[in-house]
Amino acid sequence: MDIEKNLSQTLAEMGTTLDGATNAQIFCALLRMVRDLETEMKPAEGNRKLYYFSAEFLVGRLLRANLVNLGLADDVERVLAAHGTTLAAVEDCEPEPSLGNGGLGRLAACFLDSIASLGLPGDGVGLNYHYGLFRQDLSEGVQREEPNPWIAPESWLIDTGTSFSVPFGFGPLAAHMYDIEVPGYENGVVNRLHLFDVEEPSPAPARGIAFDKGDVRHGLTSFLYPDDSDDAGRLLRVYQQYFMVSAGAQLILAELEERGFAPKELDRHVAVHINDTHPSMVIPELVRLLMERGIEFEDAAKIVERTCGYTNHTILAEALETWPMGYIEQVAPGIVPVIYQLDALARARTDDERVAVIDGNDVVHMANMDVHFSHAVNGVAALHAQILVESEMRPFAELYPEKFSNKTNGITFRRWLMGCNPELASLVTDAIGDDWKRDASRLEDLLSLSGDAGFVQRLLRVKEGNKERLAAWLRAEKNVEVDPHSIFDIQVKRMHQYKRQQMNALYAIWKYLQIKRGNVPNRPLTMVLGAKAAPAYTLAKDTIALLLALGRLIAEDPEVAPWLRLVFVENYNVTAAEHLIPAADVSEQISLASKEASGTSNMKFMANGALTLGTLDGANVEIAELVGRENIYLFGRSSEDVIGLYDRCDYRPWDVWQADGELAEILDFICSPELLARGDAGCITRVYRDFIAKDYFMALLDARDYVAVKERCLADYEDRAAWGEKALVNIAKSGFFSSDRTIREYNRDIWHLS
Ligand SMILES: *Cc1c(COP(=O)(O)O)cnc(C)c1O
Repeated sequence: MDIEKNLSQTLAEMGTTLDGATNAQIFCALLRMVRDLETEMKPAEGNRKLYYFSAEFLVGRLLRANLVNLGLADDVERVLAAHGTTLAAVEDCEPEPSLGNGGLGRLAACFLDSIASLGLPGDGVGLNYHYGLFRQDLSEGVQREEPNPWIAPESWLIDTGTSFSVPFGFGPLAAHMYDIEVPGYENGVVNRLHLFDVEEPSPAPARGIAFDKGDVRHGLTSFLYPDDSDDAGRLLRVYQQYFMVSAGAQLILAELEERGFAPKELDRHVAVHINDTHPSMVIPELVRLLMERGIEFEDAAKIVERTCGYTNHTILAEALETWPMGYIEQVAPGIVPVIYQLDALARARTDDERVAVIDGNDVVHMANMDVHFSHAVNGVAALHAQILVESEMRPFAELYPEKFSNKTNGITFRRWLMGCNPELASLVTDAIGDDWKRDASRLEDLLSLSGDAGFVQRLLRVKEGNKERLAAWLRAEKNVEVDPHSIFDIQVKRMHQYKRQQMNALYAIWKYLQIKRGNVPNRPLTMVLGAKAAPAYTLAKDTIALLLALGRLIAEDPEVAPWLRLVFVENYNVTAAEHLIPAADVSEQISLASKEASGTSNMKFMANGALTLGTLDGANVEIAELVGRENIYLFGRSSEDVIGLYDRCDYRPWDVWQADGELAEILDFICSPELLARGDAGCITRVYRDFIAKDYFMALLDARDYVAVKERCLADYEDRAAWGEKALVNIAKSGFFSSDRTIREYNRDIWHLS
């Protein structure tokens, strides 16, 4: 197609020209062009259709991703260049959809991309949050949450004009369906992400994210994960969940009927996937709807069990949802009798109380319901699936051994290599051709360039260019200066104690004190962190305050600043990730072994040529196996050791603090007057107290090993040729982590779509 002509025409309708238009106008013209092209494309077809239910879809900006998949990105770039702009400048006018929080939502987005790219019939089902999780404001030295409105008058949302009536306890509420199109990679397929919404959404709060949580009719889709520290907040989460699954289940049955099948044939023509426990109520809702259509309970339960699959994402007890039956009675009385019947059915299979759907306190255990009434249950990395089977879900695994499997997570290389790192993508293509774009495992062909000094030099130069671009982006967007010749050491992910950003802070203090004593490094180090903390998670917010204060202290110290920077990137999101990851030298994946189910940023960094500094946790284990010990920096206790320490209650940070003088000095520095003066002293002190009194995720246990291995890693950076070789191996082996591979496995073992 003639892109220039198409754009010129649209811009003429808007009263301008390609040369006269603003980037915002060009963005609108491109958006319309892509949407027009996609209306002519068809959804994938097959005997079974998948509905992937998820509370989050962290899709990121969509313009570039759509152009890549339509095969138009390079052509558009050329046309824009001829008119004095760039795709990067134009896409800066696109607000990032605020429909997710972290890895779980990003995984769902990568999966939709892979499902469409493999030509499989599958749509996403979620909610259309208006103000997102929140936008993070750090201007006062602590995290403040602000609404993050992202829906512009012209956006990727398509109003389908369809709605379903959700039977809440207080009466029916219409769920209006908006769609976002999901094109496959150069295959003419376009699937859909269905996002349900209330008809009259509340306006955004003027400041902050507090709102009337009792106003369900208008506020249901205001925010993702509304504050659940009171009854109204918890009830609102149940309202959201039931709204999503009831509307989704009705959509499924309507489409089944349209395709000419009877409700009792549901399992033969539909696969439902439950991404973590938020959509669990789809099980009783589908049973209820089948019973409404004349199917007996026992048959309906069997059909639904054969239809549903469930992915567990965490073994952290806090994240395994339970709801008092009283809440469900208030929100969704229609499914209450069904849940009691499901509980009885499960009790007929086993009298093991640990796996009951409803416990002795009339509380519903969502994950338990999922495992009993899904035909497949999976973990998200080999280690995680093993821990599920051997410990966390052992009674279930004994009851249903055939249900359990592993599906190691993946990422779409269309966004996380071709889209965000075009320089590396074209270097790779120059070297090995472009088969890897359809089959990421072909990246292994790069291994034939191992030992080719010229190629390794080019690889290092691509990284340097990306570092310079990141420095320019940080200057322009976040108002911070970094030295592109320093080592870029990056930890970006949700803020959580188990991910141990607090241990990274200990390293920064250690390094600061070293430099103060005259032990300056070979080369400056730039530590970059980025993370949002859940609004009610005090210790996570405190850790952000500590890191901000540390960043200030370092920057204001003329002895240290030339050698060390600690940059905390405000409002970490997909767009920030796309700038940060291609520029990383070191990928920080330092969770306490056994706690990170998989991780996916570890995969993104690897594919972009960063070396992993990490524990043997989640998918790091598989990265280590693929690249070999000489191409990764591992430290810390094993998951077995850690599980043993928890089982025996055998970890006391106080003892570590008393026994290890050097570590105690670093810890005590947290409460030094110079640091307290540069941030919120209350927050910072709480982090200190937690380290010594609790340290639930054992940062002190691994801190020494962490510092030592990090120092070795940074020293190795100086042998540029050897480092480049390691980066090459990492890129070459990253193809295993393509979400195309993951989705093929889901399809082969669970969904059987075609
Ligand atoms: C990939 C990604 C994540 C997941 O990061 P982990 O380090 O695997 O937890 C979270 N947020 C964003 C914006 C991402 O792109």
